[in-house]
Amino acid sequence: MEIKKKDIRALTKEQLRDFFVSQGDKAFRGNQVYEWLWQKSAHSFDSMTNLSKETRSMLEENFVINHIKVDQMQRSIDGTIKNAVRLHDDLVVESVLIPTATRTTACVSSQVGCSLDCRFCATSRLKRMRNLNPDEIYDQVVAIDNESRLYFDRPLSNIVFMGMGEPLMNYNNVLKAIEKIVSPEGLGMSPKRIVVSTSGVPKMIKKMADERVKFGLAVSLHSAIDDVRTSIMPFNATFPLKDLREALQYWYSKTKNRITYEYVVWKGINDTQDAADALVKFCKFAPSKVNLIEYNPIDDGEFQQASNMAVDMYKNTLEKNGITVTVRRSRGKDIDAACGQLANKS
Ligand code: SAH
Repeated sequence: MEIKKKDIRALTKEQLRDFFVSQGDKAFRGNQVYEWLWQKSAHSFDSMTNLSKETRSMLEENFVINHIKVDQMQRSIDGTIKNAVRLHDDLVVESVLIPTATRTTACVSSQVGCSLDCRFCATSRLKRMRNLNPDEIYDQVVAIDNESRLYFDRPLSNIVFMGMGEPLMNYNNVLKAIEKIVSPEGLGMSPKRIVVSTSGVPKMIKKMADERVKFGLAVSLHSAIDDVRTSIMPFNATFPLKDLREALQYWYSKTKNRITYEYVVWKGINDTQDAADALVKFCKFAPSKVNLIEYNPIDDGEFQQASNMAVDMYKNTLEKNGITVTVRRSRGKDIDAACGQLANKS
């Protein structure tokens, strides 16, 4: 019977060092392998050229490197790139590279499918299959960094956890991935260039605050009125706005990091002055700014983007109250790569 080999990237550096000692080798060998696995993103033991042939085959016998595979890459007319990423167990997630004049942003997935049920989001139609491992999240970032260098002649500059899944429902793995991304032994990126986006899981927001994380927080708010929010994001019944608000105040008190609210204005759902006033009130609980994002249709037209007039009304109301607001256009719509469109269609 074949013994199931272990995923070598599930080991910490310490564990790798211990492994080599247990094999009668030097602990230092563990550092070398660790560097190959993370900093150099090696896909095979054979490519680890500063190890002896014997060491490489010994690793081969004991471990696997579960590297992701970019199965398909689609390019939008606006330059956006979408990767369909195949995992070692043949499940697929998507990640997106979004170029602007000055930045390249990677939008990465944290779960296969999603357990939340936001009614306007295509990913919610996919059953949540499993959480991504830290290395699977890390690999998506590396793949996009490589594409950024190849197609735009510059390294990746920002990362947003706005792909498939709810990052705070896969908290430990997302944090481990970020640790690797910011570590000099990984990609050495600044945490200030990373944003984790959540539908709002109060308990986890507090936990992040307690851990004094250094990355940014975005919350997909979409309504500051409980009944309305519950009708479009049913889990709001379990995590009502009062709890969310409290957690966000706690977040700010601990991190002093301003919160970003993502907000889509839909026709007949939240396009009234009352709804905008409720948002203003919510924004005043903790320093924050608002991104008004364009709706990307996913279906039969149950949800429709509100008129420009309604969006302007929101913008004016927020500005009059001293709240920073940006109106964001979608990117990559033609290849289903925009917010809420990731659903493994291809
Ligand atoms: N689960 C996380 C991250 C994934 S969604 C979260 O909810 O924040 C990334 C953003 O896209 C969220 O703000 C989400 O509300 C928004 N979104 C989802 N579906 C959308 C759609 N059809 N059009 C525009 N934005 C959408």
